[in-house]
Amino acid sequence: MEQDNTAEGPSIDQLRQRYRLEQQKRLRPEGMAQWRELKGEFEDLDRDPFVEPGFTRKPVVEETTVVIVGGGFAGMLTAIDLGKHGITDFRIVEKAGDFGGTWYWNRYPGCMCDVESYTYLPLLEETGFMPSERYASATEIFEYSKLLAHTFDLYPHALFQTDVTGAEWDEEARRWQVTTSRGDRLSSCFMVLAGGILHKAKLPGIPGIENFEGKAFHTSRWDYSYTGGSPTEPMDGLADKRVGVIGTGATGVQVVPQIARVAKELYVFQRTPGAVGVRNQRPTDVEWFQSLESGWQKERIVNFTQAVTGAQPEVDLVDDGWTEVMWVDTRSVPDSAEEVEALERSDFETMEAIRQRIDEIVQDPETAQKLKPYWGKHCKRVCFHDEYLPAFNLPNVHLVDTDGRGVDELTARGPVVNGVEYPVDLLIYASGFEVTTDLHQRLGFDPQGRHGVTLSERWAKGAHTLHGVLASGFPNLLLISLVQGGFGTNFSHLLSESAKHVANIVETCVEQGIAVIEPEEAAEEEWLAVLHRVGAGGARYFQSCTPSFYNSEQQAIDARAARNLTYSGSLLDYIGYLEQWRQEPDFAGVLVQRAEAMENG
Ligand code: NDP
Repeated sequence: MEQDNTAEGPSIDQLRQRYRLEQQKRLRPEGMAQWRELKGEFEDLDRDPFVEPGFTRKPVVEETTVVIVGGGFAGMLTAIDLGKHGITDFRIVEKAGDFGGTWYWNRYPGCMCDVESYTYLPLLEETGFMPSERYASATEIFEYSKLLAHTFDLYPHALFQTDVTGAEWDEEARRWQVTTSRGDRLSSCFMVLAGGILHKAKLPGIPGIENFEGKAFHTSRWDYSYTGGSPTEPMDGLADKRVGVIGTGATGVQVVPQIARVAKELYVFQRTPGAVGVRNQRPTDVEWFQSLESGWQKERIVNFTQAVTGAQPEVDLVDDGWTEVMWVDTRSVPDSAEEVEALERSDFETMEAIRQRIDEIVQDPETAQKLKPYWGKHCKRVCFHDEYLPAFNLPNVHLVDTDGRGVDELTARGPVVNGVEYPVDLLIYASGFEVTTDLHQRLGFDPQGRHGVTLSERWAKGAHTLHGVLASGFPNLLLISLVQGGFGTNFSHLLSESAKHVANIVETCVEQGIAVIEPEEAAEEEWLAVLHRVGAGGARYFQSCTPSFYNSEQQAIDARAARNLTYSGSLLDYIGYLEQWRQEPDFAGVLVQRAEAMENG
């Protein structure tokens, strides 16, 4: 599209048209089917590069109160909360070689958390840890995960480098019988699925992807043996290499400046430009941190979530790019046409400021135009970075814009765009993770509930849960996932509250001698109605979005997708539902069977 600016900038109508045009370019008939799994011929790309090969151990056969699947923040926080409630009889099964989840896997150079460390890192007051910078590096967060595990004595409970291969509800024993890739047989009263939200890497289904003969890996499996260096040291192995990066989302934005610094040539293949606001990274002010008074972290976490969900707290404690960009929540259901327009205008203004920043930083006007994102601020995750845009001023960095199509083809030598082949030695897939695919697919096993019915069968026409946590047909199963659950900019806020909820349910059952809990279908339908009601504003908003995992690549919403929703209102409101439910007596909407009653007859 030609320049559409008047002296005051583009009009709302012009922007609406431009957004629609950019969306249309990117709609693909194959929708979610465009992605490839790291399986079959790509299985090797899923190998854990951070462990020594050849690990073995004896199988564990035991009975426990809880099996937790996943040792990322969700699993760790659940275990910590259980321990605080005096329940120490649990196992954590984790595919990786250590705790940390996302922060174990994502060790690509430049990886950091874009949410302020003082609100993101859980339990800072309890561990006494002071993050070194305002936005913590992945290295520091991974180290912090290990510190959490040591502080709360989680290591003795962990089975690492172990995949759960099956889980069956045993009606008679009233237990989950769990099997693993290491021959373990775990029998537990409760099973918590904390299997990760962004842990299953995906590849772009570019025609010919299997033909590429150079070195290739996904950002979450970074191979430092090829690039040289480490997350904290320069990658000296790339000095004579031509490197291609596919993807310009939150990961691409963080990794590109690091490669730009060291590679001989860097080609950034762009399908949709990312939105990149100001970061303002800085070291922690030690005096300030030490002056914080008891209870500060909870207050700061809640204040941040208020600020990014449009609640506009009196004081903006975090006061950064997130709270500036998100201070009006345009997904809410507006009351009047004027309100609709005001919200839309505010969204356009935010994105227009982001677009103008590109002109200020990127010297080549043509490159600057191509880097401009034309989508609403809730359509994809907005990024904040001070080095991404300047990287495009370096002579060795080349933006290859595909005008929304994506890379046309991969040959043995490299990507092809618009008939031009770009030979590269190394191809890096910054292509993201499965988020809205079926839960059992992401978990890697299919839990079998009552009467031998599996999760994939029960949810074949969409999910059935209460709060995204309890699921009918699957007694004593506790879920921490986005399926019918909450969502938030600060994921660790969501995970902390979900873990608290799950641990509270287990504790109450143990305390009250409840052997089996399972939600009533009617309560699940009521929860679905809440999801639909709250989702109405979001649905309108997302209609005009460019495709992404936020909207399942704009695939048509069938009956199944209409159930597989995430609570799209404020995370604080979602937490409110959980808290209110916990306060009500006798697990409202949930069938319980007490051990005593069952034994008596
Ligand atoms: P994304 O899914 O956001 O990005 C994938 C990228 O690959 C997109 O730019 C996509 O383009 C591009 N792509 C896909 N197919 C092709 C193709 N055929 N040709 C060219 N490009 C293609 O993954 P990320 O890993 O960047 O981020 C995933 C999520 O991880 C984030 O939303 C965030 O929640 C989390 N994250 C968080 C961080 C944090 O600091 N908290 C840091 C990094 C990630 P298109 O946009 O057109 O689909």
